[in-house]
Amino acid sequence: MLQMTQTRGKGEKSDVCFADALLNPSASFGGLYTFSTLPHLTPQMLQEFENLSYTELCKRVFEILGLGLDEGLLDFALQAYEGFDETSAPVRLAHYDENLSILELYHGPTRAFKDMALQPFGRLIQTLARGKQYLILVATSGDTGPATLESFAREQLGEDYSIKVVCLYPKDGTSDVQRLQMVTQDSANLKVLGIKGNFDDAQHTLKFLLQDSEFVKFLQDRGIALSAANSVNIGRVAFQIIYHIWAYCQLCKDGTLTRMQPLNLIVPSGNFGNILGGFYAKKMGVPLGKLISASNANNILYDFITTGVYDIRHRQLLKTSSPAMDIIKSSNVERVLFELFGARRTKECMRSLQDNGVYALDSVELEALQRYFAASFCDDEQCKSLIAKSFAKGYLLDPHTACGIKAYEEFVKKGTQNQGQGTKGEMGEKFLLCSTAEWSKFAPTVAEALGAKSGTSTNGETSEGLGDKEAIEFILSLGGSLSPHIAKVFDKPIVHKEVVEIPEVKRVIMQWLS
Ligand SMILES: *Cc1c(COP(=O)(O)O)cnc(C)c1O
Repeated sequence: MLQMTQTRGKGEKSDVCFADALLNPSASFGGLYTFSTLPHLTPQMLQEFENLSYTELCKRVFEILGLGLDEGLLDFALQAYEGFDETSAPVRLAHYDENLSILELYHGPTRAFKDMALQPFGRLIQTLARGKQYLILVATSGDTGPATLESFAREQLGEDYSIKVVCLYPKDGTSDVQRLQMVTQDSANLKVLGIKGNFDDAQHTLKFLLQDSEFVKFLQDRGIALSAANSVNIGRVAFQIIYHIWAYCQLCKDGTLTRMQPLNLIVPSGNFGNILGGFYAKKMGVPLGKLISASNANNILYDFITTGVYDIRHRQLLKTSSPAMDIIKSSNVERVLFELFGARRTKECMRSLQDNGVYALDSVELEALQRYFAASFCDDEQCKSLIAKSFAKGYLLDPHTACGIKAYEEFVKKGTQNQGQGTKGEMGEKFLLCSTAEWSKFAPTVAEALGAKSGTSTNGETSEGLGDKEAIEFILSLGGSLSPHIAKVFDKPIVHKEVVEIPEVKRVIMQWLS
């Protein structure tokens, strides 16, 4: 069985197996658990994969990785995908134009790609916990919260109450749909709290609680272990490798690619977990070309990948229409550093980021990074015009995926400079774009892009803009179609009405647990 290794080296915590890293995700020196070795998938294996179903492929790859999960457990976890739109595969491939395919990762219950990992992950954690009491804390800017709550809702888990989830969201920081997806959850093991603050405050509160001695003792006295379901959990990353491999194999099978032809991957990125799955797939021998990170105006990943300098000193978080990518500290970059430069250097960079707000790769390191990665970013105006342009071609994009289209248009023109490929799009470089959310989660932006006028108040000033419901109706009137998962959130009763001041959060959670 594979032992996980640690990105900042082995210190006070030992290397553990995959299952233990799921339950206790933080490693020595504040680092992350990660794979100690990655197996090689041969061209012949990839060809065999073309004929596996999605879940068969997942089981096969986990076996090759040596994750040591027993088959019954993994089967139970993968049954979560039966609640997705199609039973044959949880994801869908669309062909956008002759060089670009789109991998739609949002066909799960909460309509964002987080479901791809969090749905099976919830079932894994529940089983691995073996009846022990766990409290899972999650802070969300909008998509992780709904996906985590959905995954741990009692209906999903049978009548098991051993895992409780507390979800903190910024009161005015999410879309209506995202908020309703959380506050209408009626399972008794879930607690949702709006906080008077922004996403950073929510995340900060969570980190504070994880270390607060009174809070930790309170939980210990009740036999409750504390865990976090944030995107750095290696259990989530493992599931995010599979769809990149699946897409490559299916594109070979349907003739879009010839076998072993390079495929450039574009991923709208924030915490870098999705693209990290693609990076691992490439390291395992899947013929992916460049891994292209797409950002919005918060373009720190673009700066890092193009210059090798990760500098947060003069950065302010900007509010954009693709909020899941509004990020300054992108956690999973650490796993890439580890894979390319080893634990010692990773620890050094992470310490420098913490102490000085910056680290810089040298030119050799930058070259190594750029052998794998490229980057692009897109402002809100460009994003909206791309939504309109794509809709005219018959494809409805969410704002995050639209940032990926910007990257495609840029790189198909200038080429990715992959070795062994033509440098120009005319010579047929192929691209795959991960679509990370359905339009319905970000309807006001999409409606505005498609020409909806925001409301005008009586005194003639333009009001805040459309609400989600009006925006959805507008888009439906243009011919979109709405998933029943989204339609139902407007009708469900609101269960969680509490909005609290930050210092109140601890007391409210302790009261709920008593
Ligand atoms: C979470 C999220 C992202 C960013 O994914 P990372 O794995 O954190 O890079 C992008 N788009 C949407 C819609 C998301 O919910």
